[in-house]
Amino acid sequence: MTGYTCKYTPVELLIALGAETKILNSEVLDFAAAERLTHTTLCCHAKAVLQQSLKEADELVLVSCCDSQRRLHDVLKARGKHSFLHLMALPHGDEPCARLQFKKELFRLCELYSSRHNSVFDRQKFIAACREAAPPAVDRPFLAVLGARVSSQMLEFLQEKVRYSLLDLTCSGNRRLENLPDGIETMDFTELMEWYAGALLRLVPCMRMTDVAGRRVLWENDNLQGIIYHTVKFCDYYGFDYARLKKETKLPILKLESDYTPQSLGQFATRLEAFMESLAPQRIAFPPKKAVGGRLFAGIDSGSTTTNIVVLNEKREIVASATVRTGANVEKSARAALEEVCSKLGTGLDGFAAIVATGYGRNSIPFANAAVTEITCHARGAYFLNPAVRTIVDIAGARTAR
Ligand code: SF4
Ligand code: SF4
Repeated sequence: MTGYTCKYTPVELLIALGAETKILNSEVLDFAAAERLTHTTLCCHAKAVLQQSLKEADELVLVSCCDSQRRLHDVLKARGKHSFLHLMALPHGDEPCARLQFKKELFRLCELYSSRHNSVFDRQKFIAACREAAPPAVDRPFLAVLGARVSSQMLEFLQEKVRYSLLDLTCSGNRRLENLPDGIETMDFTELMEWYAGALLRLVPCMRMTDVAGRRVLWENDNLQGIIYHTVKFCDYYGFDYARLKKETKLPILKLESDYTPQSLGQFATRLEAFMESLAPQRIAFPPKKAVGGRLFAGIDSGSTTTNIVVLNEKREIVASATVRTGANVEKSARAALEEVCSKLGTGLDGFAAIVATGYGRNSIPFANAAVTEITCHARGAYFLNPAVRTIVDIAGARTAR
């Protein structure tokens, strides 16, 4: 099995030389095994690849993305477990000399791999593999995922949480080669590699490329609704790219940072939900099903420590509020808070036009008409009070119940 991690790896060439290829993009439970072999400051991406490659790939093709990848190559070379280990030099653009340099790299890989395996280049396999990597038509609303490689587990998780289909253009993303040139069947090997070097270097550019104008194809697609940008803990490169991306486009962007362990995923759920709320604000059923059209509006924040309720009248004035301990039963606490404001106001549930729940228990309050993440509530509340606010500090369960 020939493992790889970077979308610029010439997978189709390896297939044509007889390799069985596999993208190494799994989550890992911890980095103990990697830290026995290398120093702890190696980035979590390189450590995750190190562990997975030792378990799941007897051959490995790496790309000279950064120093961490080069150190990963050094460690694995010293370990000597892979029967074929190769580090390819990747140019930073797709100008003619970069294509020439990369073509030489393709020739070198071809030479090394075929002499190691005594294999020959199979043109039909190469063409078939290139066809499989052809770009799909994106003809409905979608979100692009950019940045650092996402594991298959993370991609599945993201897809479950968002309403749009996802186009994975990260480091490990589906490789989308341009359409095959006419006459590919009869091109000689040098011409073929010239085209292939260019096609790889023209993939939607990653953060390592100096010229990222190739991302224009994305911005020009009217179906693109927003971007999920994945960064890796303690890796500045993606941080810089994210800052560049924010200047390049006005599209909504959600930045997610992970360390390739499953723990990261749990933290993403609320942020993804809030991102979807910002893309398509939910309309609250009006009048709500469970109320009979009163004139009061309640917001319930079901937090881990306390449950808070605030009631507004039609003039947007606060007319009552209450705080109770959340305890073990989220619904019971929310009812207790509601009863407290109802008794202050001398009304019942039918006095409310709408009740919206937020906080960690927001989905467990059956009498609320809508559940909205605390991120959206914070943003809207702050904007309502003062549109100039740009930063909100949430001190979570620090408040004590009265
Ligand atoms: S940043 Fe670019 S070169 Fe580095 S791993 Fe990702 S796709 Fe490959
Ligand atoms: S996460 Fe950053 S430091 Fe690590 S391999 Fe990727 S680009 Fe290099």
